[in-house]
Formats: sequence, structure tokens, C-alpha cells
Amino acid sequence: MAAKKTNRISFPGLDRLNHFQSRESVLLQTIRRFVEIESPSDNKPAADRMGAHLAQKFAQLGGRPHFHRAEEYGDNLQVDFPGVANTKPVLVLGHFDTVYPIGTLATMPCRVESGRLHGPGVLDMKAGLALMLLAIDALQTWHGQLPRPVTVFLVSDEEVGSYSSRKITEDLARKSAAVLVLEPAAGLRGAVKTARKGVGEYFLTVNGVASHAGLDPGKGHSAIVELARQIAVMWKMNNLNSGISVNPGVIRGGTRTNVIAAQAVAEIDVRIKSARQATSLDRKLRALKPFDKRCQLQIEGGINRLPMERTAGVAALYRKARAIAKQIDWKLQEAAVGGGSDGNFTAGIGIPTLDGLGAVGEGAHAIHEHIIISELPRRALLLAGLIESA
Ligand SMILES: [Zn+2]
Repeated sequence: MAAKKTNRISFPGLDRLNHFQSRESVLLQTIRRFVEIESPSDNKPAADRMGAHLAQKFAQLGGRPHFHRAEEYGDNLQVDFPGVANTKPVLVLGHFDTVYPIGTLATMPCRVESGRLHGPGVLDMKAGLALMLLAIDALQTWHGQLPRPVTVFLVSDEEVGSYSSRKITEDLARKSAAVLVLEPAAGLRGAVKTARKGVGEYFLTVNGVASHAGLDPGKGHSAIVELARQIAVMWKMNNLNSGISVNPGVIRGGTRTNVIAAQAVAEIDVRIKSARQATSLDRKLRALKPFDKRCQLQIEGGINRLPMERTAGVAALYRKARAIAKQIDWKLQEAAVGGGSDGNFTAGIGIPTLDGLGAVGEGAHAIHEHIIISELPRRALLLAGLIESA
């Protein structure tokens, strides 16, 4: 008996891992159900169905759900859990929208194959939502009730820029000790994300002067030719070594081959690694000057998400995560990634944030999107540990 007790104290991590392993099939059922409620960002009724289902699941654990109404996108869901200690809550952050239109399940059904669960949005990030439920449930089982208050915030429009939810995310983060983001882990090694690039979107419109390409070729001032020259200028702003990328990903313009084009537009994605780069790149884009003085340039858009920088607070949170992982002999790695998430907002206002705590898998936003089932228990262990100690 005594030996067993010592054992429990020495290996709390392994006991916990066993707990989560024993709940794997329930967890899988929850994830499947989430995936089978399709919830594209741009379909409010569908997203709201998913929100309602989640509210019910979190309420079953004793959380208080509250919807922040949104007009264009699904209502954003906040769930508050009281805790024993009277400390600041930890904010557990996720999104329940996906990039897949309704009907995707017909061609991309939710299925298990060679230890992987496939389906639209399973990795990004419906498995992460199920991990939240499992971790909270486990902490309640172990402690009787949550050791500290927890705020869960589930966003409906993350994949399209978080325009309806950003302010709420930031307000909740300001009241919290730390933010845990359940976006997918980085790579198959399951690294957590301690830095993310910032993201911006710009629209460059060129207004030229139209004329007949045959009768009056000299009178026209081609918006297309001007745009092409501007694209060459923007392309030079790329500096991959320092983490700056500028990609004119969409262009359109002109009306017919026999007309010198009056208008052309480019949509440009930009990525930056620091706030300083964001300011400088934004200034350069806004300072573009036309080569052809009869063409006018108009630049709209801007930086949407500032970079998530690896601040001292982020690094400290990562050290806690590594210590939790070490209890089960897991060498948890960290990664800096190019994509942005809502973690960029919370880190951007100085709240310690750790991202990439969700599932391990491949193919986010792609036809082969899947998670590795055997990785789920230790992800739950890590999340539960961080909710306690972050
Ligand atoms: Zn995501």
C-alpha cells in the first residue's frame, strides 16, 4: 500500500496519462460529433448550430455559457468556470469555424484510418475543442472542482480574420493570467508555438486612363502595365531571411484586349516577424508612387494580426509546459511559425500566450486533414497541467 502511494507521488504524470488513455474512445466520439457538425465561417446558421452544441457540452461540466451575439458570423461563445483559488482565470482560446463549405463531408468523410482521424476541420481545430472538455473534466475529477477559474472563449470567425471576436478576445485576455491556444501543434513532433508571424492584407487599386488600343493607343494610360510595375516593386520588399514576405496573390484588371485598361487591382498577403517590420512595411506600401503620372494608386487594408513575439512571458509559459511534459519523459519542443492566430492578439497586448496546444496532425485546410489519435492523451495532459499552473 505504502509503496503504491509513493509510486503515485513520484509519477503523477503517468497516472494522469493513464487517465486520459482510458478516455480515448469517448474523446474520439466527441471529436467525430464536432467534425460532423459542419461550421464554415461564412455560414451563420451552421456556425450557430456548432456554437449551441458546444455550449451544451461545456454546460454539462458546470460551465456558465454566454453568447456574444454577432451579426454576420456565428455568435461567439464564452464559458466561465469558477475555481477554488481566488486567482486570475486562465483563458483557454479556440475557434469553431472551419474553412470548409457545407457538404464537404460528402467527399471528405470523418473516418479512422491507420491510427489517424480524418475529416474537415478535425485538426484545425475541432480536436482542440474536445481536448478542452476532457482536460476540464479530468481536473474536476482529480480536485473535486477546478483549482482556479477558467474562461473558455470560442470564436466563430477566426479563419476569416476574427473581426467580430477580436475585441472580446483581447478584453478577456487582459483579465487573465495567461492564454492557452488550442490551435494545432507544429509538425508531427507536436511542438508548441512560441512565436507566430504577423499577417496583413492589402488591396492596391490602379486607376489609369482607358482608350481604344487600335485607334488611340497613345492616349491610354494602362492600369495593368502600371500594376505590373508596382508588383515588381513590391516583390523586392520580400526578405525571407528576416521573415518578411509580400505576396500579390490575386490580380485582376482590364475589360477587353482592344481596350487600354482603366483599372487593375492586386490583393497582397504580407507576413512579418516583428512589430517594427510591420510598421516599416506598412509605410513602404502606403508610399508607393506611380511610374506613369496619369495613373493613380490607392492602397487599402493593413496589418490584421501583429506578430506573436517570444516575450519573457511566453518563454516562461513554455518552460512550465516543458516541465509538465518532462513528468512523462516527453521532450516538448517549441516552434516559430508563419501563420497567424488569435494568439497573436493576446500576445500582442502583452499577455503570456502559448499556442499550438491542440492536436498533432497534418493537412490543415487540405483534403488530407487528419490528427494522430495516439498523441491525444498527452496533449490533454499538457493542457490540464497548464490550466493548473499557468
Ligand atoms: Zn485554426
